[in-house]
Amino acid sequence: MRIALVGYGRMGRALDALAPELGLHVAARIDRNEGLDPDRLAGVDVAIDFTLPEVAPDVLRRLAELGIDAVSGTTGWYDRLDDVRAAVERAGTGLVYAPNFSIGVALFRRMVRDAARLAAIEPDYDVHLHESHHRHKVDHPSGTAVAIADDLLEAHPRKVRWEEDPPAGERPPEVLGVSVSRHGSVPGTHVVQFDGPHDRIELRHEARSRDGFARGALEAARWIHGRPGVFTLDDLLDARLRDAHPDSSDASTT
Ligand code: NAD
Repeated sequence: MRIALVGYGRMGRALDALAPELGLHVAARIDRNEGLDPDRLAGVDVAIDFTLPEVAPDVLRRLAELGIDAVSGTTGWYDRLDDVRAAVERAGTGLVYAPNFSIGVALFRRMVRDAARLAAIEPDYDVHLHESHHRHKVDHPSGTAVAIADDLLEAHPRKVRWEEDPPAGERPPEVLGVSVSRHGSVPGTHVVQFDGPHDRIELRHEARSRDGFARGALEAARWIHGRPGVFTLDDLLDARLRDAHPDSSDASTT
């Protein structure tokens, strides 16, 4: 399968390095000011966008007009999702978008949601989320931690909001604590704890490099080719779960 990389920054280069391992041929590398020239995209099956929030919607609309399926990892453009969806549906092409393409994180989020539902039957377990990243990361909590915190609020009946540590005073039981640390070169760790008076259950996801994002995006490229419509990484995961467990209800777990 032939792919184009639109945006050749950190993620574009990570995709380029990993693509051959997944049997994908990188036929075009397109960066800023180069435009989406139909000649350069001739014969491309899927384009993968890792650009900037202000350009991604135009890139994705143009790819749809050219009849090319797309994967978008760019974050921060979802306020224009309706426009992009309309263009993709009009063209009959496919699009998968996700703010985090790590399959490991997607699995982790499902495990956390299930664990929170289970742990909620025991009133003595408190829930806590911790994330750590390298010292250069400026935003906090991480976008992934915010998504996990929102998942926990949805899944756990006694947690109604989350707040970042330290609390102003004693933390009310309905508040989910989120703590953050920044040090060294940790690529990204998220830990969910269910802490009771007698024991602690811990779920942990540790990223080792940005290859996890790249691999997920490349897998999404293979999956979306010839599949019209707009999808997220969760749809891909559902499809894989259905394939792996055709007779179970696992695939419907949200
Ligand atoms: P980066 O700044 O290293 O790369 C972005 C590249 O896009 C640059 O090379 C820039 O020149 C290029 N670009 C800008 N305008 C363009 C245009 N019109 N056409 C083609 N190329 C253009 O950033 P990055 O770390 O590679 O991240 C890119 C985006 O992906 C960001 O939004 C980031 O938040 C997001 N991201 C998402 C995931 C995920 O899993 N979904 C993972 C990492 C990063």
